[in-house]
Amino acid sequence: MSTSFEQLQIAQTYLDKLKELGIGEPTPIQAEAIPVLKQGSDAIIQSQTGTGKTLAYLLPALEQIDPTQKQLQVLVVVPTRELGMQIMQEIEKLTADGPIRSQSLIGGAAVVRQVEKLRLHPHIVVGTPGRLLELMKIKKLTLHHVKVGVIDEVDQVFELGSMQDVESVLKGMLKSSQKVFVSATIPQSTEQAAGRWLKEPVIIKINASQRTAETLEHMYVLCQEREKVDTLRRLVRLIKPKSAIVFINVTDDIAQVVAKLQYVGLSIEALYGEASKQDRAKVMGSFREGKFQLLLATDVAARGLDIEGVTHVFHLDPATNAEYYLHRVGRTGRMGREGTTISIVTPKEQFILEKFEKQLGITIEPKAMYEGRLVDPAQDRSAATMRSRREAARPRDAAPVRSGSAGSHYAAAPAGAVRTSAPATDARESSAGPAKPAAPKHTAAGGKAVSKAQRERDRKSKGAPRWLKEKQQNKE
Ligand code: ADP
Ligand code: MG
Repeated sequence: MSTSFEQLQIAQTYLDKLKELGIGEPTPIQAEAIPVLKQGSDAIIQSQTGTGKTLAYLLPALEQIDPTQKQLQVLVVVPTRELGMQIMQEIEKLTADGPIRSQSLIGGAAVVRQVEKLRLHPHIVVGTPGRLLELMKIKKLTLHHVKVGVIDEVDQVFELGSMQDVESVLKGMLKSSQKVFVSATIPQSTEQAAGRWLKEPVIIKINASQRTAETLEHMYVLCQEREKVDTLRRLVRLIKPKSAIVFINVTDDIAQVVAKLQYVGLSIEALYGEASKQDRAKVMGSFREGKFQLLLATDVAARGLDIEGVTHVFHLDPATNAEYYLHRVGRTGRMGREGTTISIVTPKEQFILEKFEKQLGITIEPKAMYEGRLVDPAQDRSAATMRSRREAARPRDAAPVRSGSAGSHYAAAPAGAVRTSAPATDARESSAGPAKPAAPKHTAAGGKAVSKAQRERDRKSKGAPRWLKEKQQNKE
């Protein structure tokens, strides 16, 4: 029999709020964690992405708050602004119309305003390590009365080079305060940190062997490096996901990548680490509202995000390790919903996926695009052979030529096997975003007067906007 929130002895005010939010039964991690946290034990909470870890720690933590005391009693530490804002919203929903005051203390926002607002004595704060420490140093924030300190996405928080900051924050809390570490992944280094900071922690793990959601379908498409953008464009056109996240590895210039993807007609915006607070908030807000289709993100930026309606996760670069893969794919397939994840990899990168399969106990199926469907590449190959025989029988210029198919065995079916049109045309067809710059004329194609170096440059920067090409040319 499953436990109810009543049986977990959640206070009536929160029971009412949960009902209003349409949350009926506790998830397994909530059923396990809530009683342990209510007893006041330190704990490590580890369960798959999208299993409701936030409420698992928030409900018992909120119950610890005595609203008559003008003191900070609960602290939630997070790695990023976006996750902080998401958790703040959850807190606000649970405490709406009540006496509990909450505040976010996140880097990027004006310190002066935060200091001013701190005068209202929040009972619960959500913050990033750097900003919390900054405010502690100038004596505007004290953690002496914190009863519960939670670090969400704890492995990421410790990894972000902010180790010293987090440790100083942890030191700022009394030894007797309850401390809780939360993540879907707890690597050994985090376990060691837990050993230093938690007193006899209760380890609450759900489904440790099943590390990613069973409702997730893992796939990959092979192509050459230069075809990746076009492959993504074709996949998006074929699948038409309502909402999807595209991951790249950390790059110096995410602006270039997003410009390139927008240029080929994708409705995509990026979550930038360096962008202003307002810009990041705007991008997140618009994405949540479904104003554009794809969110380009890095591993850190997307950690913990819970965005309704994300059905697909694409990897333009393979994840750095199995843990990162697990967090990336965990942006979809949440709470028992279905989700699909597609890695776009080169033959050289294929071994990385094999490693993930072994480490995570999953199968990542090869796929190819064929006649508007994603199929087993073997099927694509045999069909393609038949097709190319038929194509060969036709007059030459009848076969449409598509860019980006050269050299690819799986991703790009040979000419004629896929619905085809010149890339410049379909780039605009599929665009749901703002107007894109016109395609620069490709004088290089077939032009005998063009040098080999020029052709190579053009090949490399195919699909890039003019300014980007010029920039690249200037570099050479
Ligand atoms: P995690 O931190 O484990 O990745 P979240 O806490 O972000 O997962 O929760 C995922 C989603 O599930 C959120 O949208 C949340 O509101 C919802 N949720 C949480 N608990 C429940 C529940 N008991 N029943 C239904 N939905 C829930
Ligand atoms: Mg979470």
